[in-house]
Amino acid sequence: MELRTSELSVGYGKKTVISGVNIQALRGQIIGILGPNGSGKTTLLRTLAGLLAPLSGTVYLNQENLSAMSLQKLATRLAVVLTGKQPIPRYLTVMELVAAGRYPYTDFRGKIGGRDLEKIYEALRWVQVEHLADRYVAELSDGEQQKVMLARALAQDTELIILDEPSSFLDLKNRTEFLRTLMELSRKRGMTVIWSLHEVDVALKCCETVILVKDGAIQAAGPPEGILNEEAVCQLYGGERLKMNMAIGNTELDNPNAAVIWVVGGGGTGTPVYRLLTKHGYGFATGILHQNDVDYHVASTMGVKVTAVPPFSQIDGQAVAAAKNSLAEAKIIIDSGFPLGVINRANLELITEGVRLGKPLISLREAANLACPVHPEERCSVSDLILRVRKYIC
Ligand code: ADP
Repeated sequence: MELRTSELSVGYGKKTVISGVNIQALRGQIIGILGPNGSGKTTLLRTLAGLLAPLSGTVYLNQENLSAMSLQKLATRLAVVLTGKQPIPRYLTVMELVAAGRYPYTDFRGKIGGRDLEKIYEALRWVQVEHLADRYVAELSDGEQQKVMLARALAQDTELIILDEPSSFLDLKNRTEFLRTLMELSRKRGMTVIWSLHEVDVALKCCETVILVKDGAIQAAGPPEGILNEEAVCQLYGGERLKMNMAIGNTELDNPNAAVIWVVGGGGTGTPVYRLLTKHGYGFATGILHQNDVDYHVASTMGVKVTAVPPFSQIDGQAVAAAKNSLAEAKIIIDSGFPLGVINRANLELITEGVRLGKPLISLREAANLACPVHPEERCSVSDLILRVRKYIC
């Protein structure tokens, strides 16, 4: 199923929410719509689904004008899953609700036949809710209801499905399963999926195309690898403090506080320390890191001062000199327990130098794994770190 729009404007009465929408969704594509709250994602999706009339322009389904289609025909072409709690009759079972998805195919009495049953069970299996078949929908959790709504849409047996923030009520496990289901539906059944979502990392991992919506217009549309970069995300959401790192597909809070701590990181051991210090409002500088280290990505995204060298290279004299400057300004040193190899031995010398300068050293290194020649005044686990830091910095 192919969906295309031509000079589409969407909105309510005299209020235009988004105009100049020219987008295309091909068979089997997963298209994600991203944009801040109130940017018009729901309004656009409702218009694409035929639930809201376009203010102007046209939506085509396989070359056919969607507005000219009968409701029944439309229901065999596309299914919709909307967010938010729909009013659900108290005594409606999951089986009955999913069976209602077969309405475009049943007669006026709604009689379910063998093929309908097949499709209903197939839909229940896709979403892994067969065990809930006899339960009342109103008594399910929000997450379970959301899965059941997807099963109902799948029972409709359409080639296009439109979903408005479908993963918002789902916990981590259910969200992962839900995303996998959508991806398999697109890959194995050639289903076209158009959905709105908030998670930029999910868009990067699951969508073939993303559409960025803001200020009444489509800001960009294309493969996420091409258009979703740090700058685009920052502009889209306008978050001053929220920083995105595309390499790790992650957001971090920025840390603008004065660097009173020198953290020696590496191999990912710095990351929990950085987040902890940022959460508690402590400024820090860190190094010496390799630019391919996850610690480098996390610290850089936070906007703190990072002394770094190119991937897999020896730490050179220039980096050591820069690190010594940062170290001199710090009140304490934290050794994150980084793994030690031939290319980062200079970090041990820096720690030794810091201790020689009289800086208190807190180490997260396990005693049995002590690669550090100096004896830390304080050795602790990451969960006790802030208590130790408070001893030196209020
Ligand atoms: P999003 O899904 O991106 O959060 P919406 O499509 O829900 O955004 O809303 C876009 C704009 O349309 C908002 O300004 C919202 O207040 C407005 N809006 C939403 N529903 C209606 C409605 N029924 N009538 C008039 N304006 C509406």
